[in-house]
Amino acid sequence: MPDITNALTIDFEDWYQGLEIPPAEWGRYEHRIVATGRRLIEILDDAGVKATFFVLGKVAEDHPEIVRELAAAGHELGTHGYSHTLIYTQTPEVFREEMKRALGAVEQAVGLKVKGHRAPFFSITKRSLWALDVLTELGVQYDTSIFPVMNYRYGIEDAPRWPHDIGDGRLKEFPISTWRLLGKNIPIAGGAYFRIFPYAVTRAGFRSINRLGQPAVFYLHPWEIDPHHPRIPLPRRIATTHYFNLKTVDTKVQHHFHLDAQRFDAIYDDRKGPVARFIDNVWRGVVRKRLELTVQKLEPLTGKTVLDVGCGSGRFCFAYAQQGASRVVGVDFAEAMIDLAKRYAAELHVDNVCEFRAGRFPEAVPDGPFEASTAMGFFDYIEDPLAIVRAMREKTSRTMIMSFPKAYEWRVPVRRLRFLLAGCPLFLYTRGRVASILKDDIIIAHLGD
Ligand SMILES: [Zn+2]
Repeated sequence: MPDITNALTIDFEDWYQGLEIPPAEWGRYEHRIVATGRRLIEILDDAGVKATFFVLGKVAEDHPEIVRELAAAGHELGTHGYSHTLIYTQTPEVFREEMKRALGAVEQAVGLKVKGHRAPFFSITKRSLWALDVLTELGVQYDTSIFPVMNYRYGIEDAPRWPHDIGDGRLKEFPISTWRLLGKNIPIAGGAYFRIFPYAVTRAGFRSINRLGQPAVFYLHPWEIDPHHPRIPLPRRIATTHYFNLKTVDTKVQHHFHLDAQRFDAIYDDRKGPVARFIDNVWRGVVRKRLELTVQKLEPLTGKTVLDVGCGSGRFCFAYAQQGASRVVGVDFAEAMIDLAKRYAAELHVDNVCEFRAGRFPEAVPDGPFEASTAMGFFDYIEDPLAIVRAMREKTSRTMIMSFPKAYEWRVPVRRLRFLLAGCPLFLYTRGRVASILKDDIIIAHLGD
């Protein structure tokens, strides 16, 4: 596959600005864009990824400092219009005035010329193609607003799918990426679609685009990494795509893990797009630290039997085996993960000590007891942790180590993002909830960090 860099784009607006709420009412809502923007800078910085931020004019006027911070962090700035109004409901004159004000606000904040435009709600459609002429006239060099799909609010179904010149070539168009399947363009490139579809859909779509030698254009909104933004009553058609669904069925979780196995494998694939790369980079450090702590607490491991619940690709199991455990059993409900674990175990020459089983815990583990059992990063996906804790206790003679994802921590938004992207529910815990789950537990109730 050719080495293609995909574009990460962010429509930089506050949580209430993309909800068809009239700008006159925006003053009533809590501004969260500065804090969320800083968190985004941190995440992208951590991963060494640069993005293009299409800044809403109103944001640039109200909070020029965050726009300067984005520029200082090396990100490219574009405009997202001024008032987040559907372009096809405006006249060319009104659009021109709005655009001047929006460009002016960003340019004044950073002292740089703005080159790019992303329309609110991708609202350059057949009814508003005149907007491209206005943008050209105002010196904008590229637009990325045309979505070659059919949606109730936007889309030009038969528009070109790849970057191309508009008119005399002064303006370039970068359409939002779609996946061509069975003669239809499937939207896969971000926002609600990315949250609704399983990750595999997006991934396969991106691959098919890159295989054709084309870059994918992916988009995010800041509020998608800000799970605590206020919830307000909204028309159903808007609310269903804005708030992601936590009540996703169990099968979707399994599905996600099945896919995650391939994604894990891809950590070693340097051809990955920037989005997947930045998420992996943020995560690798955390997982490593958690592994070190667990091994430390289980020491000495020599001669011990250990069970790992939710073993994934087996990293914890390999560490136990390498530290001298006599028998290690890993169980995971994702078959693809188990296949990967077996392959790695053979490569690491620990397959004589490690056994891997695909299936549900505890059913997939008929044997035991084990001297120690661990469930690290597992309860993040479990709706009824008590049943798992009880079953683990029955199979453990000495030590149990479990991790519970904290409900309040700086990384939570990153995790939320990761799970939003994967279309997978995420369960978080407070200290009080963990205490109540473990309250009748006689073996261990360690509540430290
Ligand atoms: Zn927007």
